[in-house]
Amino acid sequence: MSLVSDTIKSLRRTLLVDEGLEFLEDPSDLRRLSRDCFDYSPVLQDQLAGCCADLVVRPRDVAAVERLAAACSRHQVPLTVRGAGTGNYGQCVPLEGGVVMLTAELQTIRNLDPISGVVTVEPGCAMRDLDQWLRRHGRQLRLLPSTWRSASIGGFVSGGSGGIGSIRWGFLRDPGHLLGLEVVTMENRPQRLTLPAHQAEALNHAYGTNGIITALQLATAPAVDWHQLAIDCKTWDDAVALMLACGRSAISLHLVTLLEQPLLQHLPKWSGPAGAGHRLLLLVSPDGVSSVQRLADAHAAELRDLGPEDLNGGNGLRELTWNHTTLHLRSADPSWTYLQMLLPQPELVAMARLRQRWGDALLWHLEAVRQQGSVRLAALPLVRWSDPQRLEQLMNDCRDAGAVLFNPHVLTVEDGGLGVVDADQVAAKQRFDPAGLLNPGKLRGWAERS
Ligand SMILES: Cc1cc2nc3c(=O)[nH]c(=O)nc-3n(C[C@H](O)[C@H](O)[C@H](O)COP(=O)(O)OP(=O)(O)OC[C@H]3O[C@@H](n4cnc5c(N)ncnc54)[C@H](O)[C@@H]3O)c2cc1C
Repeated sequence: MSLVSDTIKSLRRTLLVDEGLEFLEDPSDLRRLSRDCFDYSPVLQDQLAGCCADLVVRPRDVAAVERLAAACSRHQVPLTVRGAGTGNYGQCVPLEGGVVMLTAELQTIRNLDPISGVVTVEPGCAMRDLDQWLRRHGRQLRLLPSTWRSASIGGFVSGGSGGIGSIRWGFLRDPGHLLGLEVVTMENRPQRLTLPAHQAEALNHAYGTNGIITALQLATAPAVDWHQLAIDCKTWDDAVALMLACGRSAISLHLVTLLEQPLLQHLPKWSGPAGAGHRLLLLVSPDGVSSVQRLADAHAAELRDLGPEDLNGGNGLRELTWNHTTLHLRSADPSWTYLQMLLPQPELVAMARLRQRWGDALLWHLEAVRQQGSVRLAALPLVRWSDPQRLEQLMNDCRDAGAVLFNPHVLTVEDGGLGVVDADQVAAKQRFDPAGLLNPGKLRGWAERS
């Protein structure tokens, strides 16, 4: 019997008597809960196929999280936190096995400040439930991933970056979104710490490598009943011009997505017929609909008013955007994968250059975002998969064209981001996880520290 399995058995014996911890031990549960949505990347599919947790544990409350952290620390067993498991880069895949900790029972909304709208919530709260609850109090989440119906708020802050709302609110790591955290450290005697915003930032988008988040303090926005619009444009240049005109207007927007025409036939039927044009999808405040119509008329575009969003229904226009576009195309044809980048300006020149080189092996999907105060175009182009070398070549061409790439085919925080080590993230790991047991293998700066 291996030392590893002896250690795990001993850990299990310690934990089994704890009534605050629920075990999922069925081998199919172990496999299922050791995966996320990394299969969007053929590169990661190969790398992660064999990774599996030894134990899956669901703590009932924060005190149980502390006992679990203490036991893992004493037995030197890795612990990987898992929210809803919708991350795209194997973010919650336990590379070195050990324990996968589910946050689903930690879902209390602890407080909403009636004056500031700041909400304090536990990490396992589903974003859909949180958003609906906030709406009953006149507020809403500022930023949501297109997986908002299933994703957890802790998983979004630890693993996500932006999405619906990014046209107004930029990205999660922009100052002003995350206002504080409660964190449990990974030590023999875990501490439960309250971190102010400037210390919390180091855990924002750190894949759970440098602390177990047990509560988050987030800014919210006044609730709006967003209106859904679909606009078909005859040419790509017109569509991009209209997208930018909307983004730069004084219209209150929650989402502006542009899909190249060949993508439309792969969207679900409920999204409407594919015409000859490229399609813009917008969430706009009710007082902005007539202004969008005016801008659409000026670009000879055809606007369809799909009415107010039904957030209680199963699907809406939101579920055609961000990485849901990739999901729909891959459902029709899994030989497609994707990239993520911020386009350089002027955007049309860069896209034309890449189109010339890559033809229809690249289909454009754009999202308007606010980046450092300006409206910019992010791209999540669909890419016809052939092999890792061609993907690398394409990424190099994108960089040469001036794009900032966020590679979705890599495992570490740094390589999926700007490529550089964030010293604050590494310092936080030293402080909150000194033995390096949290989600090992995902923070490159930790492996490379001197
Ligand atoms: C179709 C599709 C569309 C998507 N669209 C978007 C999008 O628009 N924007 C976007 O940003 N992302 C998007 N994603 C990625 C993902 O869905 C989101 O980031 C989502 O918010 C992750 O939440 P989760 O609960 O599933 O997190 P998980 O996948 O469970 O976890 C994500 C990371 O957070 C860590 N973590 C979770 N909880 C904690 C905690 N309490 N303490 C410490 N670490 C923790 C995990 O260890 C993991 O590293 C998309 C994915 C898919 C498949």
